[in-house]
Amino acid sequence: MKVNDEVFALEATKNWNYAYLVSGKDKILIDTGRPGQGKGIIKELKSMKINPEDIKHILITHHDVDHVGNLAFLQEETGATVWASQEDIPYIYGDKHRPGHKRIISMFMRAKKPEKIMAYEENQTISGLEVIPTPGHTPGHVCLLYNDVLFVGDLVRTSKGKLDTMKSSMNWNESVLKNSIEKIAGYDFKWICTAHGEPVRLDNAPGELSKIAKRMK
Ligand SMILES: [Zn+2]
Repeated sequence: MKVNDEVFALEATKNWNYAYLVSGKDKILIDTGRPGQGKGIIKELKSMKINPEDIKHILITHHDVDHVGNLAFLQEETGATVWASQEDIPYIYGDKHRPGHKRIISMFMRAKKPEKIMAYEENQTISGLEVIPTPGHTPGHVCLLYNDVLFVGDLVRTSKGKLDTMKSSMNWNESVLKNSIEKIAGYDFKWICTAHGEPVRLDNAPGELSKIAKRMK
């Protein structure tokens, strides 16, 4: 799905865990879908006349297995530099177990261990994408802002064009999450690109997010 001239939700990851392509001056992948979708992602890129080695960076929003499922595969295929937050990297490497039933999920949905992952630095912008720490869904969750497009990872989801919260059992810490949603609502953007549910364009996207935060306990 085309979001705008430079942003695409990858159809190969359509079923409940969108990964995105930013095709500006540099080509960037945001998240990598769940295990088994890697070849489809490469095929889709090629259909857009993008060679795997054109991908310069892979930016991970958080450690969940449906976001890092093809990270090792895509790292190898593209040779891109991989980035994730310092707090979430140990979960991606398998040095820390994912908490609660996410641990069970990652036993069934196994993601291969990637090679080197770079840790996001403070106030970092990578190829025009501003990295904004938004912990709560996971300890090191980040949102990525590219012009008027906010990639929210699993900060929130959409359902039938409306914003909604993730299931609370999926969130690591809901009061931390609420603060993060309030913080991100202070930024300026029109598009909210979710992993779960279709991306939405809203006239007052930050305001809609702050409404979600107010609804939370
Ligand atoms: Zn997810």
